[in-house]
Amino acid sequence: MSQNDTLFGKIIRREIPAAIVYEDDDILGFKDIAPQAPVHVLFIPKNVHIPTLDDASPGDAMLLGRLVLAAAEYARREGLERDGYRVVMNCREHAGQTVFHIHLHLLAGASLGRFGTP
Ligand code: 5GP
Repeated sequence: MSQNDTLFGKIIRREIPAAIVYEDDDILGFKDIAPQAPVHVLFIPKNVHIPTLDDASPGDAMLLGRLVLAAAEYARREGLERDGYRVVMNCREHAGQTVFHIHLHLLAGASLGRFGTP
């Protein structure tokens, strides 16, 4: 893997603990430490370091698709698909991105408000 000195790189390398709830060859899913909904899980690539969505290239298309499908698989496994859920990826400052290793938020377990406005 290319250098990943972010917090999530440390979680991938098990240097800091996380409540891991999903793992396959390419993707790790773990509970957000400051949940914004009853269910709040982050899905990240394990083997590739992409700081933001803007840094992704066409060659990353499969990986990005797998991130979304991992969230959907987890949601089905947890019985969240019937009531539904939201997936979100924040890109840089105006979206409030704080960790610069690409990640997909899965939010579920309650009726969610509409999207944030300025
Ligand atoms: P962002 O704001 O970059 O889209 O999302 C980063 C997320 O990482 C935030 O929702 C934040 O609560 C979460 N987070 C920050 N530090 C930690 C940590 O040490 N462990 C876990 N599990 N989540 C974290």
